[in-house]
Order: sequence, then structure tokens, then C-alpha cells
Amino acid sequence: MRMLSGLAAAALMCAALMSASAAAYAADIERCHGAMAWQVLGSGGPELNQRAQSGHVLWIDGKARAVLDAGAGTAVNFGKAKGRIEDLDVLALTHLHTDHSADVAAYIKASFFGERERVLPILGPDAGNGFPSIRGFLQAMFSGDAAAYPYLGGFMREGGAGYLVEPNVLALREGEIAVVLRNERMTIRATAVKHGPVPALAYRVDAGGHSVVYLGDTDARAPALLKLAEHADLMVANMAIPEGGNDPVANALHAPPSRIATLARQAGVQRLLLSHWMLRSEQAMPQIRKDIAAIFPGQLLVAYDGECVNLDKPARLGTPQPGASKASRSP
Ligand SMILES: [Zn+2]
Repeated sequence: MRMLSGLAAAALMCAALMSASAAAYAADIERCHGAMAWQVLGSGGPELNQRAQSGHVLWIDGKARAVLDAGAGTAVNFGKAKGRIEDLDVLALTHLHTDHSADVAAYIKASFFGERERVLPILGPDAGNGFPSIRGFLQAMFSGDAAAYPYLGGFMREGGAGYLVEPNVLALREGEIAVVLRNERMTIRATAVKHGPVPALAYRVDAGGHSVVYLGDTDARAPALLKLAEHADLMVANMAIPEGGNDPVANALHAPPSRIATLARQAGVQRLLLSHWMLRSEQAMPQIRKDIAAIFPGQLLVAYDGECVNLDKPARLGTPQPGASKASRSP
């Protein structure tokens, strides 16, 4: 009887802890509304490791204006964050690995039930090495009888749906930094980066006197990255490998912590947000934090799903906070 009571109490406590953790998590996802803020919709990928895969949203004056990458789980988190697809000026993909693009169809289908009327530009890379261009990718999903989702083909035809999805292929020369979107709220620039053989891009968004650079998946060796990232308020880097890894394929695809930290320091960025945690890098997180803090003097942040970086608040320069990680708060 005593044992049963103990078990029952433990179960109750466990349920209470789980619901408290779920409540805290939901609150984190909902609170990111500022003059300009960057919110992590997914801090993991491609493993199913309790984090949603890669995706982020830029808030301007309380509205979701740009989504960058759309890995699995991020469309749901966009909804939890109270983002409205009607407000989006653009959806920009760094590359077409599934953990950065699998939720594109989820966003498009969800928008069917909204009130969007204006064109939605979707930016992405050109074709190469077995990968389609962003146009080919969207056509393969939506256009024609052989598409994966032909019932959504109206989004790719003028007058076919409530609004038009417009692929924008960014065929950039090596070293080129191009303005790829400009409107009254923001300017987005892009450059081509090396991600093994995968056509890939990095983006910079400037809005309201602030700037964010999103490197995406890359070995971070492209010289143009230094210029793209110059004096950014925030650099978002994918931390997919630990320092000194001996997997040549992974090393060709991704950058080790020291290279990311050096780029951030040389570019003079104020904050560095580490995202895209895989099991191999998450296990090494304490060492990665130390390695980066030894090189990069700015504010170091470890992404968790729903994390909001309010760019109106000044960075805490020179004070990396080893105790401030909220990564463990991912559900
Ligand atoms: Zn990738």
C-alpha cells in the first residue's frame, strides 16, 4: 500500500512537472512580439531529438514578416508563436535539405484557411548536384499531375488560388552579395555558401536599424560571409558538429565552433545564437560554449525552440552566460 502510494505520488509529481514544463514552453513560444525580434521556431534537425528542425521568424512591430527555413515542426511553432501567414513578406530557404524545407507544404496548406491575397515570394538556391532549384522544388510539390500535392497547384498559377506562391531562384556568383528583397520594412541580402555539394545560401536581414545574419548550414569558409555579417546585431549559426570531429563528410558540410566564433569576432557581431543542435553537438554543448567564449567576446546564446531575441534590447557584451542556457527547457 505504501509502495502504491509512493508510486501514485511519483506519478502525480511527474504529471505536475510535465505540465509545468509544457506551460513554460508554450509561454516561451508566445511572447516574442517587439519592434524587431528574432525567434527560433526550431533549434534542431535532422534527428528527431525533441527539438523542431531548422526554422526562424523575424518579427517587425509585432508582426511576423519573414520566415527563414522551414524544417519539420517549425510551421506548428509558427502557429504557437501567433504568427499569421497573411503578414509574411517572404519565406527564405537556405537550402533544400529536408530539415530546412519539409514544412513548406504545411505553411502553404495552412494559408488556404487564411485571408492572404498578396504574392508570397519564396527565396531559395539554384539547382545543382542533384538538388532542384527552389522553383523546381515548389513545382515538384505543387505543379502538374505528377506533383506530390497536385491539389495545391492553384498556388502556383496566376488566378489559381487566393494568392500566388512565387519561387525566386537566387543564382549568385561566388563571392557575390545581392539584395534579394527590399520593401518599406526590410532589406534582405544573400550570398552563396559552401555546404558540401549542396547549393546553399546565407542571408542578412536589415530592418529598423538592426541586422541579423543567418548562416544556415555551411562550412563558413566563404570569404563573403565576413562582409555579409559585418557589425550585425545578431549572427545565427548552426552548431551541427563539435570541435575536432573526425567525420570528413560532416566536416565538409558544417563549421566547427572555433570557425564560427572567429567569423563572429572578425565581423564584429554583438550576439551569437547557436542553433541546429544535433545529438553529436548537443552532447558536447558545455565544451562548445567554452570554445566559443574563448574566441568571441560578444553575447553567446544557445537556441531553444521558441527563444526570442529582442533586438531592441542592447546585447550584454563581454559577458557570456554559461548558466543562462535554456536548451534544457525544450520539451
Ligand atoms: Zn543541410
